[in-house]
This record gives sequence, C-alpha cells and structure tokens, in this order.
Amino acid sequence: MIVDFSNKIGRVLGALAFFFLLLPTVCLAGKPVHEINYFQSHVIQENGQTLLRIEIGLNRPDTEYKVQVNAAKPKQLLLDLENTEIGDIRKDITLDGNLARFMTFRELERRHTQVMVAMSQPAAGLYRVYTQAADRKAQKPYRIVIDVLAAPVKVPADKVAGVTGKVVVLDPGHGGTDSGAIGPDGVQEKDVTLAVARRVRDILTASGARVAMTRDTDCDVYGANATDRQELQARVNVGAYTPGTQVFLSIHCNAFSSSDANGTATYYYPKSDNDAVLAQDLQRQLVAAGGLRNRGISEANFYVVKRSAMPAALVELAFITNYHEEALLSDADFQDAMAMAICQGLGKFFTDTGI
Ligand SMILES: [Zn+2]
Repeated sequence: MIVDFSNKIGRVLGALAFFFLLLPTVCLAGKPVHEINYFQSHVIQENGQTLLRIEIGLNRPDTEYKVQVNAAKPKQLLLDLENTEIGDIRKDITLDGNLARFMTFRELERRHTQVMVAMSQPAAGLYRVYTQAADRKAQKPYRIVIDVLAAPVKVPADKVAGVTGKVVVLDPGHGGTDSGAIGPDGVQEKDVTLAVARRVRDILTASGARVAMTRDTDCDVYGANATDRQELQARVNVGAYTPGTQVFLSIHCNAFSSSDANGTATYYYPKSDNDAVLAQDLQRQLVAAGGLRNRGISEANFYVVKRSAMPAALVELAFITNYHEEALLSDADFQDAMAMAICQGLGKFFTDTGI
C-alpha cells in the first residue's frame, strides 16, 4: 500500500513538474517575437491641450508592456516591452525639446526592450500610454502610444486691487431649511449663493481684506423655522457686530414665474449716496463678467440692505428659473467669474468712495 501510494505521488509530481517547469519553456520558445519597426513623434493640439505623441509600431499586436517612472530619475519614463526585438529604427531620438528632450531604445536582455523617454518635467501625472490597432489607410502598424502632456500652468491665487485692510460682510442668501428658489433642473439657490460667497471670501482674503460671513455652511442663520424677520435680522446683526464693517453684501439668484425672465440685477436702499455707488460698481462688473442681460440697479426695500447701517447691496446673479441661467449658476467657472466680478466691484467701490 505504502509503496503504491508513494509511487502515485511520484507520478503526480512528475506530471506537475512537466506542466510547471517544462511547458512554459516550450511555450516561451514558441512565442512569436515582436519587432519594433515603426516610430513617429509629433506635437499636436488635442482638446485645447498641447501634447507630444510618440508612436511605437510593432509587427504584431498585443505586445506585453509595463510603464513606470524611473524611481531614481523622476523625469524618465520607462516602457518595458517583453518578447520584443528592435528592428530597423533609430535607437537614439531627439524629441521636441519642450515636453520631452530625447528618447532611447535599448535591448536590456534578450528579447526585452526598454524605451526611455527623458521628459522636461517630472513624469508623474504627465503621460498616458495606450495601444492603437493597425490602421491600413494611414499605413500605420499596431502601435503603443505615449502621450507626453504639458504641465498645468500654475494659477496664482486670484487677487483684486483696492480692498486691502477693508472689512466686508458677505451674506449668502437662504440656507438650511430655506432652499431659496429652485431651478427647473433642481439647482437650489442656497447652494449657489454659498459657493459664490465662499469664492468671494477667498479672493478678498487673499487680497488683504477681512471678511465675515453670515453663514459658511448650509444652515439657517437665526435657527430653523424662524420668522423671516428673525432670520433677516440675524444676518444684519453679523454686519452690526463685526467691528469696522464697511460693506454688507447679500448674494442671491433671481426667480420668476416665467422661465423667460433672465439677466443680472443689483438692489440697494438709498440710505446714503454710497449705496447706489456700491450697487453700480457691482452691477457693472457682474454684467461684464457674466455677459447676461443688464437689468440695471434698482432701489428696493429689502430688509438686509435697508437695515444694515453701512453701504449695502443685494446682487441677483441670474435667474435660476431660466434653464440656461440655471445651468450657468451651477457651473463652477461661471461662479468663479461672478465671484471675481464682485471682488473687482468692491475694489472699485472702495477706490471710488475713499471709504
Ligand atoms: Zn433669494
């Protein structure tokens, strides 16, 4: 019994050894070698972005490859190709110089090619590698493509002139239990006003102003289910109790029963000459930046602008009840542009009035 059993194990082991040791060797030997026989590189524009496209062509598809950034030299991108040989192409190639300087093809060991691209910037995040099927029309073989991308331009923190040392209270309309107006696609006024106000705060702060917000989250300022008067007075109080407040600015979106209504408007209460100046400076910048219909400035009895002791204005950025403007209001680029416009308007106001 025992002998029989061990004999069986021996046979099984023998078979296993054949499959796991011998068979792969047989397979490898039989694998067709891929020959690198095509190369092209060119700088192109794609979706408004400049990139360097490097195409490495092979005589047969499905080449195994591995991409990595050289740990010791972060500007070097390494592409390892298994089971390949370098055919009739140049092995040292000068590239465009801007995105990448040069590249090399090297046979590291038998049938293992390493392509190295010397990029101008650390490679991490600035490349993509993919394959493309042969294109008979363009007379291109199966290719492994390396796109070298331009580093994103670093945008300095936005700043405006004229607000250094100034004190501004920002009032994002609505919040918490009060959504404000809601657009046909479900965009809520309270979210738009908060996003824009936060952006305004960031720009003003970066420009040297001091900023207080009546709310900085999705919340009621007085408390849930307060009366309108309680809620609005709570906002006015932030202006009253923030030392040295020079401007109170409330940010809203307009709404109307007809979805045709559109455009930008600014309201003020004429408790001083400066209130209209503030409204005009804001309105001018908002219309220039947003490009929407200019509804002008108007006097209004709105609680927060009337009850704030300092110059105050209420901007209606656009109509949330209008399909087109609702989409704009929820768009981060539009929000940024309107926020920048508000900051420029405030800078102009402080410069105009000498406040
Ligand atoms: Zn509102």
